[in-house]
Amino acid sequence: MTTRFVSGDLVRCDHGGKSRNGTYITERDGMAVVKLDSGYNIGVAPGSCRVTGHPEPALGKNVDVEQDHKLPNLSIVSTGGTIASRIDYRTGSVTSQFNANDILIAIPELADIANYRTIPLATILSENMTPAIWQDLARAVHDEIRDGARGIIVTHGTDTMAYSAAALSFMIDTPVPIVFVGSQRSADRPSSDNAMNAVCAAAAATSDLGEVAVVMHATTSDDTCSIHRGTRVRKMHTSRRDAFRSLGISPIGGIGYPLRKVTLGPHAVLRGTHSLALHDKIEPHCALVQFYPGMSPDLLKAYEGYKGLIIAGTGLGHVSTALIPALGRLITGGTLVVMTSQCMHGRVCDRVYDTGRDLLAAGVIEGGDMLPEAALVKLMWVLANENNREKAAALMQSDLKGECMRRSAYGL
Ligand code: ASP
Repeated sequence: MTTRFVSGDLVRCDHGGKSRNGTYITERDGMAVVKLDSGYNIGVAPGSCRVTGHPEPALGKNVDVEQDHKLPNLSIVSTGGTIASRIDYRTGSVTSQFNANDILIAIPELADIANYRTIPLATILSENMTPAIWQDLARAVHDEIRDGARGIIVTHGTDTMAYSAAALSFMIDTPVPIVFVGSQRSADRPSSDNAMNAVCAAAAATSDLGEVAVVMHATTSDDTCSIHRGTRVRKMHTSRRDAFRSLGISPIGGIGYPLRKVTLGPHAVLRGTHSLALHDKIEPHCALVQFYPGMSPDLLKAYEGYKGLIIAGTGLGHVSTALIPALGRLITGGTLVVMTSQCMHGRVCDRVYDTGRDLLAAGVIEGGDMLPEAALVKLMWVLANENNREKAAALMQSDLKGECMRRSAYGL
């Protein structure tokens, strides 16, 4: 008799001379599609699998988690990403499906730290994030703080988390922590980082921090999370749990796990330093281009009419001589062009080489030590808030939220 499988059944299958555990997804072309515990999908003859268990019942919608009202009030604003994902048994892929309330149900440890309000803003993978959603996010976060939240957790996909964290850094002056958190590995994988990252984020959101930060695994073990400044962080690895790194500064803090002890560095902005303010205007007609050897000046024609352009140049901030007249034409046409570097560390200096001097003569602005992605978001924000070109250029060279530091820390 052939076994009938149901999507979500836990199965053990003989495949390639080995016996492996996984989750039955579907049958396709006569083969059973199984998601292995390692996260990869395989197709095997159905007869080589047997059922070892059944799926947990689906999480109920709107089931309220018991709250302890003596604990501080946090708000979780969910946007999607792997941290809020489950397997789609139709396709075997990971999709953003559940909301902030489901996260609370799935990670009961959170209930020991705070009392939560949940705001489901979006259920998207973060590659689908847009400046318009940053605005909705900033407004939602602002309203939660205004209404008394002691801290905010934003659950977000990891791919573009650094852009969104930078966006909120500019769009909100905050007296309380605004903590972005995600996970590299979905909850269905044994090595998932979602629960520990979420618990660390809740600890950071109840701490003395007073700025926008990203909280993610610091090491490959389950022992520490780092707290990164929202404007100085980058995802540096496609799949490792410790993918996030601060660039140009050390992390602003850390959280020991499982004790949840938060340690803030001397450079962290503390709770209550700033008063709450929302600056939610953003100019989306800005772009970021990475220069490469042989890049055709014709490509820059696509940016005619853009309000701003960030170049990720080589080394100290260069493009080829062939590109400079095209950049000059953009600048004359009203585009603010800011130079950053593809290098992970250091600052732009266009006064050393000829190409750099020519860029300055054409009107390109040096972007200091800003990360290209933070510079893009800042440019969108600056150009929405300042019409005067000289003032906008000066703002791009000022440090607003730790994104453009006067001095680089030694060794970073
Ligand atoms: N592509 C996913 C996203 O950024 C990856 C993740 O969530 O980590 O939404």
